[in-house]
Amino acid sequence: MKKIIAKKSLGQNFLKDEVILEKIASSFDSTEKDLIIEIGPGMGALTKYLIKKPSELLCYEIDKRMQDILLSFNCNKVNIIFDDFLKRNIKNDLKRNYENIYIIANIPYYITTPIIEHIIDSEINITGMTLLVQKEVAERFSAKPNSKNYGYFTVLLQHYYKIESLFNVKPSAFVPSPKVMSTVVRLIKKEKVIDLDICLFKKFLKRAFSQKRKTLKNNLKEYDWQKISDVLIKNNISVNCRAEELSYEMFVLIYKTIFN
Ligand code: SAM
Repeated sequence: MKKIIAKKSLGQNFLKDEVILEKIASSFDSTEKDLIIEIGPGMGALTKYLIKKPSELLCYEIDKRMQDILLSFNCNKVNIIFDDFLKRNIKNDLKRNYENIYIIANIPYYITTPIIEHIIDSEINITGMTLLVQKEVAERFSAKPNSKNYGYFTVLLQHYYKIESLFNVKPSAFVPSPKVMSTVVRLIKKEKVIDLDICLFKKFLKRAFSQKRKTLKNNLKEYDWQKISDVLIKNNISVNCRAEELSYEMFVLIYKTIFN
């Protein structure tokens, strides 16, 4: 078999630590009624653990050089698609209905946010995700208001998921070693996701965080400021606050006041 040289442009840092691989694979228990999706199986380091589970497995790999290796995993419960995950209509790739769908993956870091946004936009019901991401990005996922990592994406993720950082992974666990520390995060879908128009909510959040140094009032000029300031005052929050000071719950409250 030809030696495969890692492509930096595809975020190829292959995980070689078997203990970590096994821990990632066992982060969710799945049954034969479930599906696991792996984005970027690469040379199958994680796939070989995921395939041992009773659930079906759907993998997306952009690099066709992996074909020979990955096709050796093929069987009736495994489906490997050699394509750009971001271009796929995930719903169309599902063979049937599943009780739970989990995403378990060591994803390419350069497209972490687009991957998660693509999953959210696909509107498939994901029970949970375990993702190996850059440590700094993991900190953004679970950041608290008033911290430097808190922003649009933090609030969006909190709308859908409970977020846990499971453990850190050192660069030496990969070949080639990335320059940064990594963290395994687990996102578990909330039992009750608040019902709102997600397009309007996303637009509202993007506006609120559009210019970090500016006040909420400055960033939300296109919305009814009287209504917003009433909510802020009622909750003892300064009308001169910035978006980064507001919790997810507060954003929902303001959103509902504007749009109801
Ligand atoms: N899962 C393997 C492991 O842990 O060793 C590989 C992980 S490596 C960080 C990321 C993988 O994602 C690579 O195999 C890369 O080719 C693949 N990849 C990069 N961009 C992709 C995309 N847009 N769609 C699907 N796979 C992609």
